[in-house]
Amino acid sequence: MRDDLRDLYQEVILDHNKRPRNFGKLDGANRHAEGYNPLCGDRLTVYLDLQGDTIRDIRFEGSGCAISKASASMMTSALKGKTVGEAEDTFHRFHRMVTEEGSSDAESLGKLAAFSGVREFPVRVKCASLPWHTLDAALKSEAPASISTE
Ligand code: ZN
Repeated sequence: MRDDLRDLYQEVILDHNKRPRNFGKLDGANRHAEGYNPLCGDRLTVYLDLQGDTIRDIRFEGSGCAISKASASMMTSALKGKTVGEAEDTFHRFHRMVTEEGSSDAESLGKLAAFSGVREFPVRVKCASLPWHTLDAALKSEAPASISTE
């Protein structure tokens, strides 16, 4: 990756860490799940207002490192108004991007491509994927779910 691109990506992550979007409890949420990453200490809750097949609203709260917070912020921004199928598809592409060498998924992920660099740092992969695994748990279970990345 070119250095100026890398800087741009880092800027996006820093911005979302400093001013997280969709941060705070979602009143009227009908799904939620908690995620914990013991490796880093990141802990967050993802709230969903699921209407039929559509994610009408999505928010998160919790505390963690800059990567996990920025990832949750950008995930919620990307998925608001999307269908469950689109959200799961995005999750799978994001997961491939941060775990598989030579993945070309970054090209289709827009701003989320900012996290492609974490692949070089295995500990950070858990931070970046925690919000997505937590979202996945919330989508799959009507009862409040709790997941740990270990
Ligand atoms: Zn972390």
